[in-house]
Amino acid sequence: MAEFTMELNDEQKEVRDWLHGFAADVIRPAAAEWDEREETPWPVIQEAAKVGIYSLDFYAQQYFDPTGLGIPMAMEELFWGDAGIALSIVGTGLAAVGVLANGTEEQIGTWIPQMYGDANDVKVAAFCSSEPDAGSDVASMRTRAVYDEAKDEWVLNGTKTWATNGGIANVHVVVAVVDPELGSKGHASFIIPPGTEGLSQGQKFKKHGIRASHTAEVVLDNVRVPGSCLLGGKEKLDERLARAREKARQGGERVKNAAMATFEASRPAVGAMAVGTARAAYEVALDYATTREQFGRPIVDNQGVAFQLADMRTSIDAARLLVWRASWMAVNGKPFTAAEGSMSKLFASETAKKVTGQAIQILGGNGYTREYPVERMHRDAAIYTIFEGTSEIQRLVIARTLAGVPIR
Ligand SMILES: Cc1cc2nc3c(=O)[nH]c(=O)nc-3n(C[C@H](O)[C@H](O)[C@H](O)COP(=O)(O)OP(=O)(O)OC[C@H]3O[C@@H](n4cnc5c(N)ncnc54)[C@H](O)[C@@H]3O)c2cc1C
Repeated sequence: MAEFTMELNDEQKEVRDWLHGFAADVIRPAAAEWDEREETPWPVIQEAAKVGIYSLDFYAQQYFDPTGLGIPMAMEELFWGDAGIALSIVGTGLAAVGVLANGTEEQIGTWIPQMYGDANDVKVAAFCSSEPDAGSDVASMRTRAVYDEAKDEWVLNGTKTWATNGGIANVHVVVAVVDPELGSKGHASFIIPPGTEGLSQGQKFKKHGIRASHTAEVVLDNVRVPGSCLLGGKEKLDERLARAREKARQGGERVKNAAMATFEASRPAVGAMAVGTARAAYEVALDYATTREQFGRPIVDNQGVAFQLADMRTSIDAARLLVWRASWMAVNGKPFTAAEGSMSKLFASETAKKVTGQAIQILGGNGYTREYPVERMHRDAAIYTIFEGTSEIQRLVIARTLAGVPIR
């Protein structure tokens, strides 16, 4: 197990500087345009693919960094560039992780390359779990997958919503109910291959922020996929369902808590995205406060402004430390006895919302216009307290973990 460290090693610093260069030279200059266009920034994704930032290999390398700092460092730099564009670059990773976590070696080898495409023909993937009536309450999911044994096919019906890259993805990973009696343990994940009949994009959402990231409904109307598209395979599913039924008989709570542990490990990555956005806004505000003069002196000479900057920086550093700690715990298999993953996401996302608002205040009228980037960063930051579990859900998970009561 790697010791927890707050110091990046030389190799990590090199990767960080390389990512920062891409974020500063390619992502940030394109941010305002793609925010206004509210479209997927395909040319930027293609640039990322050309230099090796848009590939599973790159993220796998960061993920398996035993210090745990690889992923948070990468997320912070890319989202420092711009949250909407960065989500378009890393959003495919959500679906890829779904396949890596549950798929067989053959499924991983077949589908992940099709999720990314290549630098000449980039593709994206979507992970579709949320539904109109199943957001925080995942167990109330309704999309149904029924096995047609005669044809060895699964038939999926339902409507998914808020899917990042939904409908424009080459490969969709869809979570569906296979046994309604078992709540979230009766769910399974399916690959929907490119061009499958019955899958269509519903409404594309016009959003408050991260507008360069495509978010849409995905409608599944008698979608038929081969048996081989069930992630992990039928035998493993049957065994898992049998175990879940048995555990449910013994006392369902243990089943639910096991599911929560998975989220603990992935939440620090979202915290790191929030740190990136917060740091970007803080840097703009610091620069502005030292150059903008009113009453014959830079506005930072007023304690009211200076103290805000001190608080902003303190919160950002504290958020990063929580994120790094949780990432290190996840990679090294340390149990999240105080829901440290949720803590990091909660604190970092609330920090991003607050700091970007403070940045607008420090820039005054300019901060409120689209001439300066903090207005966009503030709109972008609002997503962090919503997706991958809202702040209320994080608090609920932390409180219940501390109290030792079941998470429902
Ligand atoms: C831009 C964007 C991208 C997304 N991308 C994806 C994606 O790629 N794939 C995917 O599957 N999903 C995605 N989501 C969905 C996202 O994960 C959900 O929006 C989120 O889980 C919250 O669910 P909800 O919107 O239904 O809110 P609800 O669950 O309806 O919550 C509404 C409010 O009630 C509060 N609340 C709910 N239950 C409790 C409780 N028990 N205690 C206290 N407060 C509670 C919430 O905190 C929130 O404030 C995305 C969402 C957005 C906006």
